[in-house]
Amino acid sequence: DARHVATQFPALKQSINQQRLVYLDSAATTQKPQCVIDTITRYYSRHNANVHRGSHRLTAQATSEFEQARKIVAGFIGAASTKEIIWTRGATEALNLIAQTYARNTLKPGDEILVGEMEHHANIVPWQIVAEQTGARVVKIPMTAECRLDLSALRRLFNHNTKIVAVAHITNVTGTRQPIEAVIQQAHAQGAIVVIDGAQGIVHDQLNVDTLGADFYVFSGHKLYAPAGIGVLYGRLDLLTTMPPWQGGGKMVEKVSFSGTTFSQLPGKFEAGTPNVAGAIALASAISWYQSFDHIQTQAHIHHLAEQTYKALSQLPDVRILGYQKGASVISFIIDGVHHQDAATLLDQQGIALRAGNHCAHPLMDALGVKGTLRASFAIYNTSEDVDRLISAVEKAIDML
Ligand code: PLP
Repeated sequence: DARHVATQFPALKQSINQQRLVYLDSAATTQKPQCVIDTITRYYSRHNANVHRGSHRLTAQATSEFEQARKIVAGFIGAASTKEIIWTRGATEALNLIAQTYARNTLKPGDEILVGEMEHHANIVPWQIVAEQTGARVVKIPMTAECRLDLSALRRLFNHNTKIVAVAHITNVTGTRQPIEAVIQQAHAQGAIVVIDGAQGIVHDQLNVDTLGADFYVFSGHKLYAPAGIGVLYGRLDLLTTMPPWQGGGKMVEKVSFSGTTFSQLPGKFEAGTPNVAGAIALASAISWYQSFDHIQTQAHIHHLAEQTYKALSQLPDVRILGYQKGASVISFIIDGVHHQDAATLLDQQGIALRAGNHCAHPLMDALGVKGTLRASFAIYNTSEDVDRLISAVEKAIDML
């Protein structure tokens, strides 16, 4: 019962211009349930201490919860070992870490990194930076008219210089579930490794990194009902073991001297400095909360709302929907002749929060031939009434503009 679920989210109890807030921007960040907020308050009220150092009770409690959180994340994504779970600030930092350690250490001039045309900038720019540093090249994998990776084009792009393939699990603008299994199979057959940007995928698909066979998989906690500032890099143990560290500092070292330094074992080697302890514990709390719902039912509910929106928007004059497919959790659209930002302002005045802009995906906007879109994205707490409110607000905006 989504209406009941929504009562667990304090932020959703607000009104804007005397109208209940309808939050349709969960692909940007989800709202947080009370239990996750309580976890953060409890941590700072009772256990706050630095982890893996000191000998008092609080540090022992904080360390134990912090490492327990790592176990929960490993279990959630099917990782074989907690050593494969590296805490980061989010998906962006995790992708930069892979680029600046694995890629910077292995790429040679002329090597190629294949990157999807519809990627978020977080999965394009780190590869461009490391390509510049190493003399490698970033090559675009084109998409089909349905905003899916073009697998036959991908097959043609592979050559003996291909070293890395970086693609999203689910595309943030259109909600397209990408054929990552086929990408992994093709890439491995060519001896390339695969980096999956799971920022959207982690929320809407059940994941087992072990059976999927991805070499790296990254995501952010804040799109999964957890706070911002905590994220995860999953990496295959053998790859992480041979990768050099990224940032230097406390905790990532075994012994430091002016004649040389030795580094910690995994996962500490990639976790320099004081980590986001409360964030990690709150992410585990969010995952446990999320797992108390049936995944298939939750997703069916979300897909139903997106489909309801699709059908209703399709009836409206001047509305153009971009790349939507059944089973998506987001819907991007434009209103012909109306700037997306103007439309979003009118929707905001009616209590509807959705995203307007290029969604950090300039190349995809170019491919779609638009400057930006309006994007409504759905989560576990949205209801059919939210969709009705959106549709009548869009109708009103069209009338006014
Ligand atoms: N990749 C995708 C597909 C995203 O949707 C986002 C955020 O919207 C990111 C990467 C970046 O995530 P973060 O800003 O949490 O690091």
